[in-house]
Amino acid sequence: MAYKETFWMACDSTEQMRAEYGPFHTRAEAEMEARKLGFDYLLRYEHIVGDRNEIQEVRSIFIELSGARPQRLPTKLHTRCATCGASASHDLAWRAEVWADIHEFEHARHFVRLFEQVRSELKEIANWRDAA
Ligand SMILES: [Zn+2]
Repeated sequence: MAYKETFWMACDSTEQMRAEYGPFHTRAEAEMEARKLGFDYLLRYEHIVGDRNEIQEVRSIFIELSGARPQRLPTKLHTRCATCGASASHDLAWRAEVWADIHEFEHARHFVRLFEQVRSELKEIANWRDAA
């Protein structure tokens, strides 16, 4: 059975030629190190590992550390599982991610979608969890 392995890197930008430091097993460790180094971003890697320990898929997502830069206007984020319909709303992007992580961990093969609410409009953020 395939399983998912997650680890974190601290990095100084989202460019191709960035400095990365790590890996760390938890977000907290990576974040502490990033702040020490003055780096503004975390990079989360997810490896989908197959039966023979081969890496089947690599996903990575950049996370901008809060306080590093001025934040955008506050918008409300909504997560909704496309598989079972469970949903929640969040003020912070990382909370949406944690919710999705837990939901997808507890329910195999469920797929959580993310929506951003601007005024009364809902806009889906596509591919939010496997941004290159
Ligand atoms: Zn679900």
